[in-house]
Amino acid sequence: LSMALTACGSDDSGSDDSDSGSDSSSSEATGKIGVILPDTESSVRWESADRPALEAAFDEAGVEYDIQNAEGDAERMTQIADTMIGNGVTVLAIVNLDSESGAAIQEKAKSQGVATIDYDRLTLGGSAEYYVSFDNTVVGELQGQGLADCLGDKKANIVFLNGSPTDNNATLFAEGAHSVLDGMSNYTVVGEQAVPDWDNEEAATIFQQLYTAADGKVDGVLAANDGLGGAAISILEGNGQAGKVPVTGQDATVEGLQNVLAGTQCMTVYKSATQEAGALADAAIALVNGEEAETTGTTVDSSDDSEVPSILLEPQSITKDNVGDVIDDGGQKAEDVCTGK
Ligand code: BGC
Repeated sequence: LSMALTACGSDDSGSDDSDSGSDSSSSEATGKIGVILPDTESSVRWESADRPALEAAFDEAGVEYDIQNAEGDAERMTQIADTMIGNGVTVLAIVNLDSESGAAIQEKAKSQGVATIDYDRLTLGGSAEYYVSFDNTVVGELQGQGLADCLGDKKANIVFLNGSPTDNNATLFAEGAHSVLDGMSNYTVVGEQAVPDWDNEEAATIFQQLYTAADGKVDGVLAANDGLGGAAISILEGNGQAGKVPVTGQDATVEGLQNVLAGTQCMTVYKSATQEAGALADAAIALVNGEEAETTGTTVDSSDDSEVPSILLEPQSITKDNVGDVIDDGGQKAEDVCTGK
């Protein structure tokens, strides 16, 4: 609780140097950038963190943009893409809802001379010029390590609540977490399931089933993001186990950080939207100007072993001890996280 008070009691409302360097906007960009976000249900991040960060990055670069949300509907994303292309976007960035529809959107864009970028999620079999994201295997490793740190050396039964089976990131998160936890002989995985579309309500139903199947003998939950973690916590609460069974998360959402401070969630993973949006703006502007973007490496598309030039950022593990880091970085506002606590 004292750490909770540190995060919430500080009157230091963040560092004044929050400019995370979009330094490639030397020349006036003349193109127009379209971004299609996936939905509003799988995580609050898309509208609450990514949209404002993208607007800020494009405004700072002085480039025209159009940001839309597909509301979880792949057909709608396809229609939005068509409209954006019709309206003359020069670069189209998507967070795909599934690789098949994403690849089709990219193919069509390409045939009309519009370059595409994968934002956050890699489109398997796609044709994006760049992939801008965090190192998602590391995200999973941080979750696995975070859970191990909360569980300690005792014998423990673990349930995995994975992200959407159509999201390549979910595969990487699970792989990363397994790579840490499977190596520890005191842990047993007693249940594991993917949650379609990252749907939080369905996650609660699925977790209840896994919990019942394990006879309630669940000591830790590897939940792939804060929404899924919150779903697991709600079921644990109903069984008098919230706060006793560590649960992981991701996105450093207001709800996730509040749960971390309250002790019902063991950790979350912070991925700065300012950094990710800034990296997208830099890559998009390079494409608009016919230049090459600065990359950190390539990502192998597991569907065809092709290599996609990538800008992968570094995620950060957040526990009770360093919730203040997210606030200092501008990832959330203290007044939002600290209400009612
Ligand atoms: C993102 C996560 C997000 C999830 C659900 C993933 O692709 O990387 O940050 O929580 O989708 O939207």
